[in-house]
Amino acid sequence: MGSIESYSEIFPDMLMPMWHFVNFWLGCCIGSFLNVCIWRIPNNESIVTPPSRCPKCGHHIAWYENIPLLSWVVLGGKCSSCHCKISSRYFFVELLCGVLFYLLWFKTLTDSDSISLLLMNYTVTAFILAMAFIDYDHRIIPDKLTYPMMLFGLAIAPVFPGIWGTDDNLRAFLYSLASLSGAGVIMYLLALGGRVMFKQDALGMGDVKYMMAVAACLGPVTCFFTLLIGSILGSFTGLALIALKKGKMKSAIPFGPFLAGGTYLWMLYGSRLEILYRELFRNFQL
Ligand SMILES: [Zn+2]
Repeated sequence: MGSIESYSEIFPDMLMPMWHFVNFWLGCCIGSFLNVCIWRIPNNESIVTPPSRCPKCGHHIAWYENIPLLSWVVLGGKCSSCHCKISSRYFFVELLCGVLFYLLWFKTLTDSDSISLLLMNYTVTAFILAMAFIDYDHRIIPDKLTYPMMLFGLAIAPVFPGIWGTDDNLRAFLYSLASLSGAGVIMYLLALGGRVMFKQDALGMGDVKYMMAVAACLGPVTCFFTLLIGSILGSFTGLALIALKKGKMKSAIPFGPFLAGGTYLWMLYGSRLEILYRELFRNFQL
């Protein structure tokens, strides 16, 4: 993966506190936009127009009432016009996105990753966060998110071929396309197999398209670990819910949030796990 020669030139130590804040705040602002997406996309509404309004009284939300984190706290979680309660979910999504962005930024600094990879990770985080919440709310991963994410992955590959470990633009595009297609075939077969074995949809088509989108952006290895980590997280949560008698064996838990968790954990720790794996493998060979 291409890395930038001297990080201290781009991010001088003196300005570091500012950069820390900028990256966290960028995440909070994106989180604020994701709140709009999570609310509107499943209802087939435009995410651009009309501007945000209070769902109860229709009060037009001014820009100063729409500042991530701060507005919700200052307004006490209430609409400034009709004083109806505004869900703490809005605050939570903004904070979560801020923290997720900050951790990726911090990882980029410590590992001296390329800025192009950071931008890719940021975009993927935004997409999968929206998908995770929509899947949790409505049990669907919308095509309106998976298709644009696939296109984004295919379009960015030739622009930043370094992400695919090459400096050849066409080759990077073909890698991305092959990764997307391969993930599609394998996931579709897994979904079919699951249907035959369990007599119900263990994997939905939304999950298949989710994996194709991740494959197009971050490659087959990320895709594989997304499925592995997602399945482990999902199984533990399922068992915990059964133990707490809150779920039955067959009640389908939406898989999207766990897949998103898997993708994010791999973006954050993947390179470290890869090094660990290679070390282990080398020791076994000796
Ligand atoms: Zn209101």
